[in-house]
Amino acid sequence: MICEVCGTYFLDEECLSRLFVFEDICMSCREALKPRLLFEVFPIAYGEVHYYYLYEDLKISYYIKRKLASKLERLYQMIIDEGMKYDLIVFLDDELLSKMTELSMVLLGFQQILMFSLCRQDVVTHLKV
Ligand SMILES: [Zn+2]
Repeated sequence: MICEVCGTYFLDEECLSRLFVFEDICMSCREALKPRLLFEVFPIAYGEVHYYYLYEDLKISYYIKRKLASKLERLYQMIIDEGMKYDLIVFLDDELLSKMTELSMVLLGFQQILMFSLCRQDVVTHLKV
């Protein structure tokens, strides 16, 4: 098989339980793309923003990012468990980030904001805190 991330040929572990499982990402890329729950807090006018993300700096294609979006399940579960303590929950994608400066006045009116994304974004610069 050819790894969709690095483009190298690879053979996956063969065992009976994985007979019909065809991985599209090689073992080393799977290891490199293991998500870690990362966290930042920064103050805003009337409160603070808790910003969660899974990858620090990911230089991969949009297609692979979409595949990795399934890893957000971990954050969704956290939001289900702890979401009630926030006034606003925001999923930060490229589209929202491009409009963040215009939305700053609205967002900064809240006290406790939870933001989350797949990859780290420079929220503070765009938010105009
Ligand atoms: Zn690979």
